[in-house]
Amino acid sequence: MNDAALQTLNTTFGYTEFRGSQAAIIQRLIEGNDAVVLMPTGGGKSLCYQIPSIVRDGVGIVISPLIALMHDQVSALQQLGVKAAYLNSSLGAAEATEVENRLLAGQLDLLYVAPERLMTPGFLGLLEQIDIALFAIDEAHCVSQWGHDFRPEYIQLSILHERFPQIPRIALTATADEPTRKEIIARLDLSSAQQFVASFDRPNICYRIAQNPGNARDALLRFILNEHEHDAGIVYCLSRNKVEQTAEWLCSKGLTALPYHAGLSADLRRKHQQRFLMEEGVIIVATIAFGMGIDKPDVRFVAHLNMPKSIEAYYQETGRAGRDGLPADAWMMYGLQDVIKLKQMMDGSEADEKHKRSEQHKLQSMLGFCELTSCRRQGLLRYFGEQLDQPCGNCDTCLSPVETWDATVVAQKALSAVHRTGQRFG
Ligand code: ADP
Ligand code: ZN
Repeated sequence: MNDAALQTLNTTFGYTEFRGSQAAIIQRLIEGNDAVVLMPTGGGKSLCYQIPSIVRDGVGIVISPLIALMHDQVSALQQLGVKAAYLNSSLGAAEATEVENRLLAGQLDLLYVAPERLMTPGFLGLLEQIDIALFAIDEAHCVSQWGHDFRPEYIQLSILHERFPQIPRIALTATADEPTRKEIIARLDLSSAQQFVASFDRPNICYRIAQNPGNARDALLRFILNEHEHDAGIVYCLSRNKVEQTAEWLCSKGLTALPYHAGLSADLRRKHQQRFLMEEGVIIVATIAFGMGIDKPDVRFVAHLNMPKSIEAYYQETGRAGRDGLPADAWMMYGLQDVIKLKQMMDGSEADEKHKRSEQHKLQSMLGFCELTSCRRQGLLRYFGEQLDQPCGNCDTCLSPVETWDATVVAQKALSAVHRTGQRFG
């Protein structure tokens, strides 16, 4: 391993050793080669480009679409004494000029920049005049047109390779599926990059899913009181209304539950998020608007009162539990109503037919996952192209196996009844 890299890890970041494939990725970049990195959220992607940016000559240019995240990362780096800055639409003209001057003067180790800013002729011209350590393309799945986070500016990032062929590039994402990976490699012209695919297993998370018998809310309360009193957790609901009602109801039962959805003022959302991060035992009740970029290590449970729209979404949302590696629960109650509602939302969207079909397909996979009678973790990892040889022993179907029976004859009878009644009943 590169001495300078290890030393930077120890002295600047205060960690004793690299995790997983961090060392190999960092080594590869320091040597001037490209890498594609698939690692689950919380896996430690940031160090993979931060350390080579510091060790190599010149500045590391980090392309990220998430302005809030950019801000947090730069503040954290500055506190560690790293010369880092960002350029995005939240800066005034004078502040932006100051950052650009520092860039030109060679005073930066890391510069975070929004993709639309990077692509301006002015900024590309600036890059021609300075030493660049590397390009890091964060959230690289944003190039995927079929993904949920597609950003047109990301497609243009292939320009980096054309204009700066000598500079190593690293593309990173927590989205694991094979088609997305292929698309990243093709669109960003990364076919010669080494691929690093980390396991997506989160062994400390216990997965539990049940169909809602009609009292999901009570079941949630029992779950929290019995297993997670005084713990921090997130409860996801599909609608803003349900978020409000659920938060209020949990509060009436003596818990500290705060609503979070896009209908609340930015100020209130920030307040609630802040309390969740700073206080102990706060429960956030939220729509999917909550979670991006939240780095709270001790979230002990993530509960779903509705089914998410895809296994990708489920994985991402449940993945916010137990980042510290200690036991955590992913608990869900779903109803067939959820499926109908999600279908309606998809039908009503602006997306084209191909996209809609892909979404419907993902929804069916999610339903299939809910109805599994075999190990959930095996099913989840299989969906992401990873094989787990043995049942995990830490999910509901492993812990209390579902009773199964041969329903062939009953199914035949039901279909026969459908046929004989002329298919007239819904
Ligand atoms: P990601 O971007 O993959 O979601 P981060 O880069 O934010 O993950 O890292 C997640 C957490 O793990 C952070 O708190 C980070 O400081 C910590 N971390 C990363 N690498 C190491 C390491 N080698 N040793 C100890 N902690 C690490
Ligand atoms: Zn299992």
